[in-house]
Amino acid sequence: MIQYSITLNQPEKHYIDISVKIDTKGSEKLNIQLPAWRPGRYELANFAQNIRKWYAVDEKGTELSSYKIKKDCWVIETGGCIEVSIKYDYYSNLLDAGNTYFNENQLYVNPVNCLVYIQERINEPCEIQLTNLPENYTIAGSLSFDSGHKAVARDFHALADSPFIACTDFKFRKYIVGNYNFSISIVGNAHPDWEKMIPDFQAFCTQQIDLFGELPVKDYHFLYQMPDYKYYHGVEHLASNVVCIGPAESLNTDEFYADFMGISSHELFHSWNVKSIRPVEMYPYDYSKENYTPLNYVTEGVTSYYGDYILLRSAVYTWEVYFAKAARTVERHQHNFGKLYQTLSEASMDAWIDGYKTGAPDRKISFYQKGMIVAWMLDLNMRRDTNNSQSLDSVMRILYREFAKKDKGYSEADYLHIVSSIAGKDYRAFFEKYVWGLDDVAPALHEALNYIGCELNRRPSALHFEDWFGFRLLEVDTVNSNVITHIAPDSPAERSRLSIGDKIIAVNGISLDAVLNLNEVLREDKTGIADISFTRNRELLSAKLEKGPNRYYPVYQIFKKAEADDAQKGNYKLWANQEF
Ligand SMILES: [Zn+2]
Repeated sequence: MIQYSITLNQPEKHYIDISVKIDTKGSEKLNIQLPAWRPGRYELANFAQNIRKWYAVDEKGTELSSYKIKKDCWVIETGGCIEVSIKYDYYSNLLDAGNTYFNENQLYVNPVNCLVYIQERINEPCEIQLTNLPENYTIAGSLSFDSGHKAVARDFHALADSPFIACTDFKFRKYIVGNYNFSISIVGNAHPDWEKMIPDFQAFCTQQIDLFGELPVKDYHFLYQMPDYKYYHGVEHLASNVVCIGPAESLNTDEFYADFMGISSHELFHSWNVKSIRPVEMYPYDYSKENYTPLNYVTEGVTSYYGDYILLRSAVYTWEVYFAKAARTVERHQHNFGKLYQTLSEASMDAWIDGYKTGAPDRKISFYQKGMIVAWMLDLNMRRDTNNSQSLDSVMRILYREFAKKDKGYSEADYLHIVSSIAGKDYRAFFEKYVWGLDDVAPALHEALNYIGCELNRRPSALHFEDWFGFRLLEVDTVNSNVITHIAPDSPAERSRLSIGDKIIAVNGISLDAVLNLNEVLREDKTGIADISFTRNRELLSAKLEKGPNRYYPVYQIFKKAEADDAQKGNYKLWANQEF
């Protein structure tokens, strides 16, 4: 058994002291690996940058030879000893949903970033011990710590997938759905309205469990870090999730609460989709390097679809909230001209390059956004093809039963095969257009929505410079934020000398200030020409833009059609689990 120990000293320095005791089993050399990434975020994280003061000793305390052969892999020469103890400090000063954080108020550990493992012994049980934990701390998470603050995990995969938070003052509630125990633990200055929140959680958990027939685990833990500043990040695990969302004081406002519920439902859905139903390329996870799969449009796209859709089905969201959020997703995808260059499956692979960064303009798409749209289209089209007898639910159930429950991963060919067999027709052409190809999803979604009596509409942007000239600004009403962030292809802005990063200071000879913004000047203009003065670095430049026939950056909206017939209303009811 590999024994990990985490000792708490000097929280203000944010280093945790880690010790790893390994019985050598007679090995002359041990290859010790620290994960290079963490499941849920498909990019290299280089956690080794947080390690200092690394050394190893034998059972007598004699230091052993230890050296790196990769940025995050060490060799320890055991010299024939029985037991090796590795000691290192891990810098824990990043508070989000996937890192490790230690300060005066809490110890929050994601074992996948700070604990090392031995590849050949990854399936051995392991033990984790916390030392120097303040007496008034309690521990939240899926690991069962005993009164001596010790817990055992089935293997390193389970340990890596079990974040925990130790602190004094959780906002805490438990609830039950069927045979399953759920808990909610919140760190931060939030004041949850439990009377509202618990029934909402029970509602979406019930819907998800009903969809699959069971929850993959007996006990499930929702862990929240709620800082006082704006933040939005969630990470899934099999028996828990961590969400870092703020500002805490906004929890009970409608918009924040809707996002809070959305991310919570999304992360729970991952307990099935990716923690259980997993692409074969990540089965099991290899923490030492990139795990390439084309299937993040299922792991994240399908989860993004169900996260909110389940909230509609369980009446936690009204249809107005659901359609507004869905339309925003469509809009964000449609306004990203990376859609002209990168397919959905390519986006999965490229996550490992810069999938979580802004990156080069209009180069790439989000598999969350387009993946959600494509999942919705699949669901509606399969309902249409089978007269409502089958849906994407059926596909997810088969993936769970035939792959997750049989301890194996699925391939993209498996996914296409299941979709086609459930729908009773070959879906390859659909995949060629929207998964492997660059066809525009907006008209296809509009058509798919017709089956449930709904439609995707566009109306012009209220901002003249977006609508007629084809560029967007960082913010509209702050004079210091008149910085160009986006330029639409083939627009007057693209044909001009304007560039992303330019700062607009005047238009048609009128200087912009805190009172007068660009939109107001252009709205009054009758000439159709925008003579723009801007700065680039320290140079003052100008560009003349002329309105053309085309419009840019429209606002997307999803509506119920006033003229929907009874068949469409019936389809809607089966899809939404409520009357049209
Ligand atoms: Zn996700």
